[in-house]
Amino acid sequence: MASDVLPVPPALKTKLEKLGLVRHDDFILHLPIRYEDETSIVTVADALEGVPVQVEARVLDVSVQFRPRRQLVARVADSTGELVLRFLNFYGSQVKQLEQARDGDKLLRLFGEIRRGFLGAEMVHPRYRVVTAETPLPTSLTPVYPTTAGVSQAALRKLIGVALASSALDDSLDEGWCRRHALMPFSAAVRLLHAPPPDVEEAALQGRSHPAWRRVKFDEVLAQQLSLRRAYLARRQKGAPVLKADGSLRRRLLANLPFALTTAQQRVLAEIADDLAQPYPMQRLLQGDVGSGKTIVAALAACQAIEAGYQAAFMAPTEILAEQHYLKLRTWLEPFGVEVAWLTGSLRKAAKTASQSQAAGSAHLVVGTHALIQAGVDFARLGLAIVDEQHRFGVAQRLELRKKGGNPHQLMMSATPIPRTLAMSYYADLDVSVLDELPPGRTPIRTKLISDARRDQVIAGVRATVGEGRQVYWVCPLIEESEKLQLQTAIDTHAVLSAELAELRIGLVHGRLKPAEKAALMAEFVAGEIDVLVATTVIEVGVDVPNASLMVIEHAERFGLSQLHQLRGRVGRGAHDSTCVLLYQSPLSQTARSRLRIIFEHTDGFEIARQDLHLRGPGEFVGSRQSGVPLLRYADLEMDIDLVELARDLAERMLRDSPARAEAHLARWLGSREELLKA
Ligand code: ADP
Ligand code: MG
Repeated sequence: MASDVLPVPPALKTKLEKLGLVRHDDFILHLPIRYEDETSIVTVADALEGVPVQVEARVLDVSVQFRPRRQLVARVADSTGELVLRFLNFYGSQVKQLEQARDGDKLLRLFGEIRRGFLGAEMVHPRYRVVTAETPLPTSLTPVYPTTAGVSQAALRKLIGVALASSALDDSLDEGWCRRHALMPFSAAVRLLHAPPPDVEEAALQGRSHPAWRRVKFDEVLAQQLSLRRAYLARRQKGAPVLKADGSLRRRLLANLPFALTTAQQRVLAEIADDLAQPYPMQRLLQGDVGSGKTIVAALAACQAIEAGYQAAFMAPTEILAEQHYLKLRTWLEPFGVEVAWLTGSLRKAAKTASQSQAAGSAHLVVGTHALIQAGVDFARLGLAIVDEQHRFGVAQRLELRKKGGNPHQLMMSATPIPRTLAMSYYADLDVSVLDELPPGRTPIRTKLISDARRDQVIAGVRATVGEGRQVYWVCPLIEESEKLQLQTAIDTHAVLSAELAELRIGLVHGRLKPAEKAALMAEFVAGEIDVLVATTVIEVGVDVPNASLMVIEHAERFGLSQLHQLRGRVGRGAHDSTCVLLYQSPLSQTARSRLRIIFEHTDGFEIARQDLHLRGPGEFVGSRQSGVPLLRYADLEMDIDLVELARDLAERMLRDSPARAEAHLARWLGSREELLKA
């Protein structure tokens, strides 16, 4: 709408667009980061030092001085004292302006911090305005907005003022409902935030706990919930194959397993089975801590698709992990006549062609990396797409899999547990199942924090562990700046360990190996032909070698918490006592210390994630979910959990009962950005 756009010069317009400011609504929702109080005037004598104050003074004289460097200096005074103004950067016009301000009844209204030095009181670079005693003072606090170079506060204030004045500021929420939930009207909230009265409780404003902030944050969270829920509902409108099965394949697989499902696995499986029997696509995220047994749940879900005459696809982010799944799924399912195909980018042409034709024909289950979604793969009758470690894939890749073979049911799995608030907020477009129980018989992993200075002791531990018939992972330091350096470090570490532990068989796996070489190495490790596997973080996700009972992580302080948790989860998978040694380089910084303490004290991934969120803020958790969700600008998912819950309920009801209001609300908050979010 052209009339909805403010008239501004093109150069400014481009800059405003960068700030996301295009429509009236964008300006209205561009809220101050802080305020300045220009509603009152203090005398020079009373002005406190070091805090912004406003004084009004007469100009006594103006000069340009050259010592110690060129500067504009003005002496001013009110009835209580004198003040020196200093401008190190100034225009010629300013000199003239200040000189002219000496005339008649003119005064300078100055805003800045006063310093009292040897030569008396002074202000450096004050903001000033030429006024008379009659010029009224502002009646509200002056907002300071987030901005970018070339967009002045004055320009923003003016444009936002125009937007506020020319918009109806209709409330997208029901008045009675708002009152019941102690939410103030939208128009009152934004007006207050842009121009708070001087008697406003400033701390509440600054801390964003003021009722006006609460309303705005609620609206923001609501927009996010509406957008995600609407996408969810739209996908549900599409048809999907009804996967009805009598469960015989599933029963046979279960009977053949050396273990029984945990209660959590049974519950989650029932949720999935129910979804698969619906005529619209499942959109479910299975969250479960490292080692909670997601793979078997996925396999049992695949059984339902296969029994119903459809295919299942199982995609994993790395070749190592995909191959592990492939081997495991074959062992589990081939005895019952299930045809499992294998598809990765590293296959030779002939093998790939063969796999592709299997996918297009007889295969019941196709396991692989993202090669599964590449061109040339056409599934004959894909009923269920399973994505393991889903956070490792980009949104685009997940979309591709969804598109393959019509509209399959989708099961996404993640071992990066995120706190409930975040899940509610960021996965509002998914149904979430949680495996909140680990299989029995696991011995808890002992975590040890050991300074690098005591490395010898750790080496002895490795020797002892292998002596007991167990195996060891040795994770090399993460070097984020340089992949080459990282590789070199891995090679060096391998060489050093090989020398120190000459009697042991030591392997090295890193990201630069060809997939086939990697797979061969992993196979040797699984078979027990390697005692110590030196690895870069390629082993981070999913790898399952129950005989490995010691994990050493060098320079643990360089890793992220979820990464450490994942790595640690590679041990403690069998019945043996397991240990994770976090080697650190002292001295540790304060942050590094608190992070390592979290890992040391907690084994529950959800708790670790909660603490990590507390330390780092939510941005990094959802970083890989680039599109999908706008990062919240105002709401704080930790502080405003009650708002998230309230918004979620309301979003459901609005979409059902008052879609027009829902649309209006979305338009206000997302406007032109919404296209981005559809992915
Ligand atoms: P993750 O959830 O991290 O993907 P996996 O599916 O790799 O975990 O399972 C970890 C290990 O636990 C595997 O060796 C798996 O066979 C085993 N497992 C899974 N479910 C059970 C269970 N109910 N009882 C005992 N062991 C189980
Ligand atoms: Mg897994």
